Amino acid sequence: MTMSPKSEANSSLVAALKRGGYNCTLMQAVEPLGEDERQAVAVAVDNIRVSTQKRDWRKTGYTVNWLVTILCEHGIAVTYRQVERHVKKQCLCGA
Ligand SMILES: [Zn+2]
Repeated sequence: MTMSPKSEANSSLVAALKRGGYNCTLMQAVEPLGEDERQAVAVAVDNIRVSTQKRDWRKTGYTVNWLVTILCEHGIAVTYRQVERHVKKQCLCGA
């Protein structure tokens, strides 16, 4: 998948509005990483989902805030909202 250049902003706006839902900023942000790193992010996301379900994040430490902090510390610029969207499966990536 290639990103649209800025000059096509209007046509990509139309396409985005027709498609609905949110693009996944987290998956886009980790795309350039190695396979091992992307896999580790996917595991971390699963751990956050499980911790959220079991409400034991105080014991496990797996929270959205934690993942955002770790990623930002390693040069991957994501926001709380972007990661939360992915964790809650509100994005279009389906992962
Ligand atoms: Zn996603």
